[in-house]
Amino acid sequence: MAVTTPVRWMNSNWRAQMFGGSESKPMMNPPITSSPWPAAFARHRPDCDWCFASCRIRPAGQDPKRFERHASGKAAGALVVDPDGRPRLIRACATVLATGGLGHLFRYTTNGEHATGDGLAMALAIGACAAALEFIQFHPTALKIDADPLPLLTEALRGAGATLVTGRGVPVMSGRHMFGDLAPRDVVARAVWEHAQAGESVLLDATAIFRSTKGTAFPGARALAQCYGIDPAVKALPVTAAAHYHMGGVLVDTAGRTSVPGLWACGEVAYTGLHGANRLASNSLLEAIVCGQGVGKAIAARRSRLRPFVHARDSDTSTVTSIATRWDHMRDRLWQAMGPVRDAGTLESALAATAAERDSLEPGSRILRNRYSLAIEMLTAALTREESRGAHWRADFPQRDAQRDGPRAVYSR
Ligand SMILES: Cc1cc2nc3c(=O)[nH]c(=O)nc-3n(C[C@H](O)[C@H](O)[C@H](O)COP(=O)(O)OP(=O)(O)OC[C@H]3O[C@@H](n4cnc5c(N)ncnc54)[C@H](O)[C@@H]3O)c2cc1C
Repeated sequence: MAVTTPVRWMNSNWRAQMFGGSESKPMMNPPITSSPWPAAFARHRPDCDWCFASCRIRPAGQDPKRFERHASGKAAGALVVDPDGRPRLIRACATVLATGGLGHLFRYTTNGEHATGDGLAMALAIGACAAALEFIQFHPTALKIDADPLPLLTEALRGAGATLVTGRGVPVMSGRHMFGDLAPRDVVARAVWEHAQAGESVLLDATAIFRSTKGTAFPGARALAQCYGIDPAVKALPVTAAAHYHMGGVLVDTAGRTSVPGLWACGEVAYTGLHGANRLASNSLLEAIVCGQGVGKAIAARRSRLRPFVHARDSDTSTVTSIATRWDHMRDRLWQAMGPVRDAGTLESALAATAAERDSLEPGSRILRNRYSLAIEMLTAALTREESRGAHWRADFPQRDAQRDGPRAVYSR
C-alpha cells in the first residue's frame, strides 16, 4: 500500500459515492482511473525470494497467560533469504513485522499471493500473543474468473444500482436485509456464499449502468470485465465471495509493540482492536498511516547501541513454489470450514485433518509447519467462538452472545 499524507489525499478531485454496506453517508473516493487491473496486479507481485523471512528469538518459556509477563525471550532479528537465495541472519534491536494479511490461505481471495499469513505464523511460532484470528472479512463480489487472486468488483456498483441475482434470475438479497443489495459486506457475502454452496451461480447485474453511461462510469470495472471477454453492458458478471481482510493478527499495544520484546507489528498483520469483529471498508488506511507511523516513532525514540548487522546462516531451503503446491488443498479446506458460514462439524473435521497433516510433516519444513500451526489456531478460534459476531457467522450459533464480547488471545509455542 502506498503511504502518503492524509492532507495530500484529500484533494478536490475526490468525490462522494454510495457503497454497499453504507447506510446514508457516502464514502469518499479518489478519482477513478482507467488503468487496467492486470497491470496493477503485476506491480503488486512481491519478490518471492524474500518470503522466507523468519524471526529468531531465544526461548521464552514462562507463563503464557499473561501478556506482561511473557517477556524474557527477545526478538533478535530476522532470518531471511536474499534475492540470490542465500540465507542471512539480520540482527537488530527492533524487528517490525509488516507482512500483510492472510487471504491467500483461502481458495477464493482478493489478496495477492504474498498474503499467506507467514508473518503472523512466525510470530505465533516464537510465542507472540495473537488475537481475533477467527475474524476474516469476505468481499461479496469478487469477479469469478480463472484468476488467482480474484479481482474485486467495487461495491460502488451496487451503490449505483447493480443487483445480485442467481443464474435463474432470482434476486439474491431479497428478504435478507432491510438495505437489500446495499446490506453490510458480511450479510451480502453470506448470501452469495450460500447460493454458491447450493450449486447456483451468482451474478452482479450492472448491465443497466454500463448501457446508460456508455463507458464513462466505472471504467476500471468495464475494462476488467472486457479483459476477461465479458461485455458488462450486455451480460451480468459472475461473482463469488472471497477472503479479503483479516481483522485479527499479532496482538500489539498502542505503540505497535507485540508481547515479545524487540518485535513490533503494524498493518494488516497486527491486531490493534481498531476494526472490532468487522472492518469498515477502507479502514486499513488507519493501520497503514496512523499505526505504521506510531511504530516508526516509538522505535526511533528508543536508545540502543545495537546497530543491525547481517551474517550468513542456514535456513529453511524449501522453495516458495513447493510450499504453495503443498498448501493448495488447504486452501479448499479453509474455504469450506472457515468461509463466510461456519459450523462445529466442518470446523472440527478440518481441525483434526490439519493437525494430523502437521504432525506428519517432515522435520525442517519450518515455513509450512508454521502455516499449519496458524491454520490450527484459526480453526480453533472459530470453533471456540460459539456465537455469530461481525464477520464470524456460525450456522449453529446464529445469535450474538454478549458474554463473549472481545477477542480471545491465542498463545502458541
Ligand atoms: C483488492 C484489494 C482492495 C483493497 N482496497 C482497499 C481500500 O480501498 N481501502 C483500504 O483501506 N484497504 C483496502 N484493501 C486492504 C489493504 O490493501 C490492506 O489491508 C493493506 O494493503 C495492508 O497493508 P500492509 O502494509 O499491512 O500489507 P501489504 O500491503 O500486503 O504488504 C505486505 C508486504 O510484506 C511482504 N511479505 C509478506 N510476507 C513476507 C515474508 N514472509 N517475508 C518477507 N516479506 C513478506 C509482502 O510481499 C508485501 O510486500 C484492499 C485489499 C485488496 C486485496
